[in-house]
Amino acid sequence: MRPSAINLLSALVLLSASASPPQDVLHADEVRFIVANAEFTLLHEMGHLLIAELELPVLGREEDAADQLGFISLYLSNGHQRNAGFYAKLLDVADYWRLEWQRPKPDNEEVHAWDSHGLDAQRFYNLACLIYGSDPDVLEWVPEITGLPVERALYCDQEYAQVRRALAWVEQHHGRAPGTPIQHRLQVLYDPPGPRLENGPRLLEQIRSTGVVEAIAARASETYQLPRDVVLRLTNCGASDAWYDRTGGELVLCYESLAHFQTLARQLPRLRQAMPD
Ligand SMILES: [Zn+2]
Repeated sequence: MRPSAINLLSALVLLSASASPPQDVLHADEVRFIVANAEFTLLHEMGHLLIAELELPVLGREEDAADQLGFISLYLSNGHQRNAGFYAKLLDVADYWRLEWQRPKPDNEEVHAWDSHGLDAQRFYNLACLIYGSDPDVLEWVPEITGLPVERALYCDQEYAQVRRALAWVEQHHGRAPGTPIQHRLQVLYDPPGPRLENGPRLLEQIRSTGVVEAIAARASETYQLPRDVVLRLTNCGASDAWYDRTGGELVLCYESLAHFQTLARQLPRLRQAMPD
């Protein structure tokens, strides 16, 4: 885990401990889940940003490509540290989709077969496959605890290698040459949280103090030769959501998504109890 993520973890623990009754204090696993999924959501939207701004060729569904770019960016942003905490964080990202898959939803939140996104279950298995495929010799336990069938698991190392190669291609063709000036950047903006967001001002203050969002924006500005300045905005949307607006050049993460991650994080013990030993 990077220092910024540790800061966010500490901040969220303090936030929860100071702003909520004791029964609402977040467990460390829940905090890790919230941080991991906030990062993955930003990096998935960064995938859409790169596809749009760099005019990347996309063969297949863009939403799948954005998940792949988000996953590999999260994976590589961790440096070479491959410990239990790192794999727990990756599993949190897959498990978010398992929890969404299992969550009873109103019809307007249901993902349908005609949607541009894969079904929640498919996104779960896709991510589980990439995690396992990143190092099958070490991660033999991943198919077992995720339920990834052997028929898919057999080729996950090839799926991971394909995604890694795709990112290398993007960096080779659109990367900023070392030593050359940064011409265009992602600028981070925070809107004031709305009155209906529980603990909104404190949550905003704590998140800003970690620098996680700025780190993602800075890394993108430094890595890629962007054709124009773009904005990464945290704002109120009225519902959990995130998107990249290619017309306005604005990546949005809704404060409500952070609250939604927190709600789902409370399901983690139930989810993991159900896992085989
Ligand atoms: Zn998307």
